[in-house]
Amino acid sequence: MQREFWFIVGSQFLYGQEVLDTVDARAKEMAAELSKVLPYPLVYKVTAKTNKEITETVKEANYCDQCAGIVTWCHTFSPSKMWIDGLRDLQKPWCHLATQYNKEIPNEEIDMDFMNLNQAAHGDREHGFIGARLRKPRKVIAGYWQDEKVHKRLSDWMKAAIGVAASKEMKVMRFGDNMREVAVTEGDKVEAQIKLGWQVNTWAVGDLVKEMGKVTEAEIDALVAEYEASYDIATDNTAAIRYQAKEEIAMKKMMDREGCKAFSNTFQDLYGMEQLPGLASQHLMAQGYGYGGEGDWKVSAMTSILKAMGENGNGASGFMEDYTYHMVEGQEYSLGAHMLEVCPSLAADKPRIETHHLGIGMNRKDPARLVFEGKAGKGIVTSLIDMGGRLRLIVQDIEAVKPILPMPNLPVARVMWRAMPDLTTGVECWIMAGGAHHTVLSYDVSAEMLRDWARMMDIEFVHIDKDTTPEKLEEELMVKDLIWKLK
Ligand code: MN
Repeated sequence: MQREFWFIVGSQFLYGQEVLDTVDARAKEMAAELSKVLPYPLVYKVTAKTNKEITETVKEANYCDQCAGIVTWCHTFSPSKMWIDGLRDLQKPWCHLATQYNKEIPNEEIDMDFMNLNQAAHGDREHGFIGARLRKPRKVIAGYWQDEKVHKRLSDWMKAAIGVAASKEMKVMRFGDNMREVAVTEGDKVEAQIKLGWQVNTWAVGDLVKEMGKVTEAEIDALVAEYEASYDIATDNTAAIRYQAKEEIAMKKMMDREGCKAFSNTFQDLYGMEQLPGLASQHLMAQGYGYGGEGDWKVSAMTSILKAMGENGNGASGFMEDYTYHMVEGQEYSLGAHMLEVCPSLAADKPRIETHHLGIGMNRKDPARLVFEGKAGKGIVTSLIDMGGRLRLIVQDIEAVKPILPMPNLPVARVMWRAMPDLTTGVECWIMAGGAHHTVLSYDVSAEMLRDWARMMDIEFVHIDKDTTPEKLEEELMVKDLIWKLK
C-alpha cells in the first residue's frame, strides 16, 4: 500500500477571499515541493476555515488506510475552538509544522497586508495551545519549510508514523511457546493488542513440519539460486542449505496466508525438524519479516516495525542479543550476535553461508547460517518490556565499530559497538531500566523516531544517551513509575 500524509492548513474568513486564495495556492505549492524531498507524499487537503471542514477531513483521515498521519500548519491565525472537535476525534498521528511561507522579513515590502497574510508566528501559537489543552499527543517541528533540517525531521517523523501503521497491522506467528522459565520474553498479549494493535497467536510446530513436507524441489531450487545470488557459499553441505530453504518457504507461506509480518520460535521446540532455522530466519528478516528467538514475540514485532520505519520501508534493523563484553580500558565494547539469527541488513560486506554444529537445542543436523561482521556507524538498540500494567520502550544510543578482533572460530554473525554514555555506565542504566538481553539493533531508526513512535502508541519511553547518568535515570524511573500508575 502506498502510504501518504495529509497537509491541513489553518486559516479563517476574516482576511477575505484574496488572502484565502493565496494561502490555498501556497499550501498546494508547499505540499508539492515537500513531496519531492520527503519519503512519502504530502497531500494538500484543505485550507480550513470552519469546524465542519476540519471535522470532515479528520473523519476521512481516520478511515483512510493510505493516510498515515496529518501535518497541520496555520498560515494565518486560525481560531482554535473550531479545531476542537476534529482534533479530539483524530486517530492518526499528528505533526504540527510551525513554519512560514516567507523566509525573510522583507524590509521594503512589509506593510499591514503582508502582516495579515503572513502571521503563522501567532497562528501556530493558537494552534499549539489547543493541542496542549486537549493533551493530544503530537510532534512539533519548527523551522523554515525549505530548510534541509526541517525536511530531515519531517521525514523521520513520517517514518515513525509509518511505524505506527505497521504496529496497528502487526500479526505475529509464534511457532511454539517462549523458552521455559525466561521472564523478559513474556508479556501481556492482550495489553499489546490494546496499546499497539498486535495480534499475537501460536501455531503448532507440527503444522510447520507438515507445510515443509509440501515444499517442492523446484521451489527449493529457486530459493537456493536467490541465496547464491545474495551470499557467498562457504560450505559443501548443500543439504543443509536446501533444508533451510525448505523451512523458509514453509514459514513464509504460513505467514503470508495469515498476513503475519513477524514470527518467533524456540530451539526447545523443533519437534519433527532437523535444524533450527538459521539462514531461513535471516533471509526472511532481509525481506522485512520480524524475528525473535526463544519465543520472544515482542522483539520479533519490534524488528518488523523498525524495518518498516527504515529506508524504503525495509531498513537496516535486526534482532540482536548482547552476548559478551570487551572490558579492556580504552577498548570497551559490547559484542552482539545470536545463536544463528542475525539479519543480513546489518552486514558490512556480503555474508557467507556456513554450516556448523549447534550444541544447544534439538538440532539433529548442523544448521546453515549467514556469517558476517556488522557495519560501523551510529545506531541504537531498543527493548520493549512489559512492566505489568504498562509497556516500557528503552532505547540506547550506540556507535558500532568494525569488530576489533577477527574471532575466526565464532560461527555466527557478529556486531561490535560502543554503548552510550560508556560501556559500564550504559550497562548499569540498561539493567536499572530492566532492558532485555534481546534487542532490535538499528542503523536506520533514531532515538527521536522511537520517542515519537512511543508517544503515538502511548507507552513509556526511556532513552539512554551520552548524557545519561545512573543517578538521573533512577529518579526518572521513579517519577515515571508514578505517572504511569496514574495514567
Ligand atoms: Mn536469545
